[in-house]
Amino acid sequence: MKGLLIVISGPSGAGKGTICKALMNESDFWISVSATTRNPRQGEIDGVNYHFLTKEEFKKKIDIDDFLEYAEVYGNYYGTPKSRALQAIESGKDVILEIDIQGALKVKESYPEGVFIFILPPSMEELKNRIINRGSETPESLMTRFKSAYKEINYVSKYNYAVVNDKVEDAVKKIQSIIVAERCRVDRVKDKILDSKEGIIHEQLYD
Ligand code: 5GP
Repeated sequence: MKGLLIVISGPSGAGKGTICKALMNESDFWISVSATTRNPRQGEIDGVNYHFLTKEEFKKKIDIDDFLEYAEVYGNYYGTPKSRALQAIESGKDVILEIDIQGALKVKESYPEGVFIFILPPSMEELKNRIINRGSETPESLMTRFKSAYKEINYVSKYNYAVVNDKVEDAVKKIQSIIVAERCRVDRVKDKILDSKEGIIHEQLYD
């Protein structure tokens, strides 16, 4: 069976990155490593956190249609390498994309069967504290991120699921439950069930 494309998105500071790290530790997902033109932050490793590219390198990849989606976020480009993610899905892996809202909406157009999960902060005050506590933003970029977060919350209605990230463990459990439920959806499994000539349904669905 094909894997799921799970898109985890939401405003900056909602905790998408922390949730994705925790999910990766708990389960066998394939997490896409995005390309970006922004500079690495302290401790970030090329090829692990991001593929750090120059603007020229990024534009070349756009020209050869190398991205599933890309977006300009706070003055830098971010994009999801296409072929590796699609290959992983074809091979049965569940693929996680942690991307911004513009990117998520583009993926929804080209891949509507994806699972679109919006991560919300418990409150706007908490969101502000999280952005400040990261310590990686200048006062201007902090204000920009906070203002966009306010607007971005409105996009929740375009998603399939909303998960409030109050405690990371709880948010991770909710996402794992969503994934289990998605794997059981009739529109995803009906062909397998109907093709199961020998009646070995369990193996068809779960192996
Ligand atoms: P940061 O600079 O804090 O790592 O990321 C800034 C924003 O870019 C975050 O909202 C993050 O989810 C988003 N982002 C990271 N990778 C991608 C990507 O491949 N595509 C898009 N559209 N957004 C991304």
